[in-house]
Amino acid sequence: MSASVRGSIVVLGAGLVGLACAHALQRDGYDVTVIDRGGVGEGASFGNAAHIAIASIFPQATPGILGQTVRMLRDPRGPLIVRPGYAARHLPWFARFIAQGTAERARVGTHATAAMLAQAWEAWQPVLDDIGGNDLVRRSGALHVFGSQAALRAAQGAYELRRSLGVACTPLDVDEARAMEPALTDRIGGAMSIPGMGYVTDTLMLARRLAARVEALGGRIVRAQATGIDAGGVLTRDGRLRADRVVLAAGAWSHRLARGLGVDIPLVAERGYHVMLAPGSSPLRMPVLMVERKVALTPMAAGIRMASVAEFTHADAPADHVRAAPVFDGLERFVQGVDAEPVSKWVGPRPSVPDSRPILGTAPAAPHVLLAYGHGHLGVTLAALTGRIIADVASGRDPRVDMRAVAPLRSLRLR
Ligand SMILES: Cc1cc2nc3c(=O)[nH]c(=O)nc-3n(C[C@H](O)[C@H](O)[C@H](O)COP(=O)(O)OP(=O)(O)OC[C@H]3O[C@@H](n4cnc5c(N)ncnc54)[C@H](O)[C@@H]3O)c2cc1C
Repeated sequence: MSASVRGSIVVLGAGLVGLACAHALQRDGYDVTVIDRGGVGEGASFGNAAHIAIASIFPQATPGILGQTVRMLRDPRGPLIVRPGYAARHLPWFARFIAQGTAERARVGTHATAAMLAQAWEAWQPVLDDIGGNDLVRRSGALHVFGSQAALRAAQGAYELRRSLGVACTPLDVDEARAMEPALTDRIGGAMSIPGMGYVTDTLMLARRLAARVEALGGRIVRAQATGIDAGGVLTRDGRLRADRVVLAAGAWSHRLARGLGVDIPLVAERGYHVMLAPGSSPLRMPVLMVERKVALTPMAAGIRMASVAEFTHADAPADHVRAAPVFDGLERFVQGVDAEPVSKWVGPRPSVPDSRPILGTAPAAPHVLLAYGHGHLGVTLAALTGRIIADVASGRDPRVDMRAVAPLRSLRLR
């Protein structure tokens, strides 16, 4: 047992999720050690689109998902890539993913996700205040951009549902959209303004500020490769790191470590790519999502980041930038200043769960382990809320979210 009144906790994984958990737990009086085999914030948390995506209320699998998937797979230049060997090994995940696409499951998932997203900012704000991170986050609003007014009209229903769940959004014609975001060209067809969205200007710096604050509060950040979790703590290549409790927050790499902890929900790596462009002559004011192209553009501190692609393959497989490149082609027609050669490229794995909701709470077969992984497309947005939830669960407080929606034992039925 540690000298801390509340006890010792090892957080396994120094992505934004693990660090937000470590920060919340350290502030709560626990004696926290974070371990990561790499540098702080260098997993998926490094290269994402960095949107505080409070409008992303829909699960990935909605009615029609099977047909949609087949159509996307037929496009050799499109954003969906499934490596056959990986799919064959993870058939239970894919079967459960498709099975989630019923109207009722999509409705339940949408409401559950919307309820969490509604708390994203109120969870981030005190964290940003405490770590001195307000300069890294902008509440700029964002635009969902469409190629035509017809496409915008066709999406109205989804925005009405968002409005009914508390996400403000306003349709804009081309001139209105360009007045709001002058970097857009007149080739766009229209846009939806989402004033409640925002973004992180530098995700790596945000992770480092969280880590620095954890250390300043008395916690430790240790570089070590975890090989397992047992009753005494975390097993690493250099021996056991003893702790009263463990938080598993290893992103897309969590599943192997979770095996044996009683979790029945499969997890896959859904890898995304980004290309960084120099800011150019007409930098964006706010994040933009090119809806039909499924590309997010974000005005990061270091230049414009274009992020997209869902590549289902091993989390650590070599990047295939040649295959990903066409996904980003031609965007200069819609946004000025994105026709430059990329200054850098990146790939990283989203930790994806069939129902697009994270796995949070006590591990069924190991009550001293708390699970905090599987954030899919929303780990940046939900990291601070996850930290708050994990600290609440650890300390026996009411987590103020419906924990059934994220429970490690929730059932993902095939029919
Ligand atoms: C292209 C792309 C765009 C995205 N856009 C957005 C967005 O706009 N908004 C949003 O909210 N989310 C977005 N996401 C999702 C978001 O990036 C992830 O959900 C989030 O980063 C997951 O954070 P994490 O801390 O769980 O995982 P990670 O950041 O991957 O951290 C896991 C950590 O665990 C460590 N680890 C793993 N195994 C071990 C081991 N055995 N021993 C020690 N350490 C280990 C890894 O080294 C890593 O540092 C996007 C993702 C991608 C790929």
